[in-house]
Amino acid sequence: MVTATHRESRVLVSEAAIQHNIQHALDRLPAGTDLLAVVKADGYGHGLLRVARIAAASGATGFCVAVLDEALALRAAGFTQPILVLGIVDPRCAGLAAAQNIALPVGSLEWLEAALPVLEAAETAPLRVHLAVDSGMGRIGFREVADLQNAAAFGAAHKAFDIEGLFTHFATADAADTTYFQTQVARFKAMLAALPTRPRYVHVANSATSLWHAACTCNAIRFGVAMYGLNPSGHDIPDVPYALEPALSLVSALTFVKRLPAGEAVSYGATYRAQQDEWIGTVPMGYADGWLRRLQGFHVLVDGQFCEIVGRVCMDQFMIRLPKAYKPGTPVVLVGQSGEAEITLQDVADYSHTIHYEIACALSERLPRESVDRI
Ligand SMILES: *Cc1c(COP(=O)(O)O)cnc(C)c1O
Repeated sequence: MVTATHRESRVLVSEAAIQHNIQHALDRLPAGTDLLAVVKADGYGHGLLRVARIAAASGATGFCVAVLDEALALRAAGFTQPILVLGIVDPRCAGLAAAQNIALPVGSLEWLEAALPVLEAAETAPLRVHLAVDSGMGRIGFREVADLQNAAAFGAAHKAFDIEGLFTHFATADAADTTYFQTQVARFKAMLAALPTRPRYVHVANSATSLWHAACTCNAIRFGVAMYGLNPSGHDIPDVPYALEPALSLVSALTFVKRLPAGEAVSYGATYRAQQDEWIGTVPMGYADGWLRRLQGFHVLVDGQFCEIVGRVCMDQFMIRLPKAYKPGTPVVLVGQSGEAEITLQDVADYSHTIHYEIACALSERLPRESVDRI
């Protein structure tokens, strides 16, 4: 998708906020613990390379990504830190990963068996492998001790592999009820104990675990959404050990302003009609930018005031009702602060019946990302 640099709509990313969130996470970690910055999905919409650069400068010692291509993009940009892909990669790509010193997750002996000839043909350094344990997430990984042991033994028996990690992922680390979490912890401990040697990296903690279950750190954390200043639980657990600073704001500017006579309609379906003579402004952003169609009836900020989104959100534009005439070019804040008022990603998510993760990731490539000191 073409990035629209000649349009006012853009995502602003606060370097200071990301730095602050990482610093506080690091302060709570035992010495020698690695913080792996999770930068998958274009850094949760904040920009892959930008976030990786800030994270590395702030003390992150490595990165986690979702897919091999994100890892390759980091390598192509010159990042030399450890990188772990979190999703299963086609074993035919094992040689490519090994050649670029990218670690892959493995959840079955079959995967290792399929990757072995690929690696032997590629003649690279050993492929770094993190054995994935499915302790209750039900997504990827070993569920049985014997299967894990067989895979570990196969990995140890072949020079093509370097079994450097063991990890799991929690389904409910962000929930107030910790019963299921404790079940997963117990299962993971049993799997770890069944390995003859402890790998270099043992990691279980996502952001929620790092915030609310600090005892479960092992020796690395996979720090994602909290790095971007968002509470992993949404509203469920408001108490956090340090203030999370949101890193993202979303801004635009009015492109068109008109007086709409009472009874006249706005946007597709003519679902909105002016109750009286109204000032209507047009904002150059739409669902193709990730500003969801269901945000009709929500609001944005102009000059510190909440302005309702009227009529359907179009692909590239939407309309708002203004309290008075404003000139084209007047700033519009979709996420962030304007005067005393603020709209958070959580507010947008609540209105859309989803989670802030989804709103941030949906912001499309058409929106330029820009670094700012503070938002
Ligand atoms: C995405 C992901 C994370 C990061 O989760 P946050 O909630 O954003 O901290 C950690 N581990 C795995 C396996 C993931 O897929």
